[in-house]
Amino acid sequence: MLTIKGKIILANLLVFGLMLFGFAVTIYRSTQESEMAKLEARIQVSASKLQRQLEDEPDNQESSGKHELFTLAADTFPEVKFRILDRWGHVVIEDSALAAYSGGSWQKALAGSSEKAVVTLDRQRYRYLLIPVEIDDRIEFVLQLAAPMTGVQASMRRLITLFSIAIPTALFLTALSAYLITSIAFRPMSKMVETAKQISSRNLDERLALPKARDEVRSLGQALNDMMLRIDEAFKSQRRFVAEASHEIRTPLTIIYSELEYAKRYIKEQEAAQSIDVSLSEIDRLTQMANRLLLLAKLDASQLVLHMGSVRLDELLVESIQLVSVLASKKDIDLVLHIEKAVELQADKERLKAVLLNLLDNAIKYSPPNSRVSVSLLADGETPGRVRIVIKDSGPGISQTELPHIFKRFYRASGARAGRAPGSGLGLAIAKQLVKLHGGGISVTSKMGEGASFIVDLPYTSNK
Ligand code: ADP
Repeated sequence: MLTIKGKIILANLLVFGLMLFGFAVTIYRSTQESEMAKLEARIQVSASKLQRQLEDEPDNQESSGKHELFTLAADTFPEVKFRILDRWGHVVIEDSALAAYSGGSWQKALAGSSEKAVVTLDRQRYRYLLIPVEIDDRIEFVLQLAAPMTGVQASMRRLITLFSIAIPTALFLTALSAYLITSIAFRPMSKMVETAKQISSRNLDERLALPKARDEVRSLGQALNDMMLRIDEAFKSQRRFVAEASHEIRTPLTIIYSELEYAKRYIKEQEAAQSIDVSLSEIDRLTQMANRLLLLAKLDASQLVLHMGSVRLDELLVESIQLVSVLASKKDIDLVLHIEKAVELQADKERLKAVLLNLLDNAIKYSPPNSRVSVSLLADGETPGRVRIVIKDSGPGISQTELPHIFKRFYRASGARAGRAPGSGLGLAIAKQLVKLHGGGISVTSKMGEGASFIVDLPYTSNK
């Protein structure tokens, strides 16, 4: 598909090309006509001289008279070939070049009409004229004159050479100027496209740079900026709503939780105590969800402040593993830690711990009982200055179709939903953003049935 720029250039070329072609044809035709007219004028001059001679001495057709006529014609215009016929069609005198020519109706000339034609004699093109000569109001002779068209042909060839240089040059210049003009005209648009590409839900306050000229591009940019303003406001109010709603929900949830816990102490019936336990764990889940939504709203609004400090990553891993060890032992899951090297980096310890706990929690949650979850800390591996934490589980793994989605908000793979594994689908989305805030990245590799490996890589200053 052609771009607008391409279409404009093509349209210019087409219109200008057609105009040039029309001009060229007109110039060619009129030049040819004027060159022919010039040639005919020369033939006419030659004819008038012969005519005068014949009028002066109409009866002098002896050899000396013929010779005089011949030299006259030959001297005046050596290139003009001629033949003189009398009124009976007998040749009075003729040039050898015309001797072979049998065309031309001299009878017509006798009737008073002249004739013009282009003839080929001896592979050479000639302008041929048939002119009646009147003496005392009676046509006595007929002049057949032919002049070679070499001059006309040379002029026409020169014209064609000129056209074949001038037309492509003019077309090239047209295309070039159309290209330059459209490039200048579209430059602000290209800039706007570049800015538009950079805009995401995180920097909706960015605006397109508008061109100074009050043209269509500016109107388009202005309309898009106005639209962005409305989208930005809608996003902000939605974030505010989520943040406020999560915040408001947390307080009653905490109150209900403590009230239920209090009530549980005085309830003797086993069944009632059990349903209070279920309620408590659901309230726990809701509180966690509200906390996560609040955190996401802060991350979206770039309001989350990291408390950076020196963190020993190996120690943080040991601490995190200890925190989830109760969960693991409930399922008899072996937690194996492999530390290649002690690593210290700049990070917000609590936020990083939350990321690791989330990944470890998932690994234990999706691994079957009596299996293993391994955690490795690899420093200066493939990329120097980056440290890697790999958390590998023995769970069902994640299918290739689901892999690209698991870091999206509220996304829960079909296995997690079907297995009724508890969760909100928000943990990985938050982990990804927190790791990104630390200048790192989080990725996953997995094959169905072979578990999943979550990889967190972070920048650090190696002190080898
Ligand atoms: P959830 O609270 O549902 O665990 P997450 O954001 O932590 O939310 O994970 C999103 C989805 O990614 C999960 O619902 C699950 O389908 C999939 N997932 C995450 N970790 C694992 C894992 N270790 N093994 C298999 N699937 C996983």
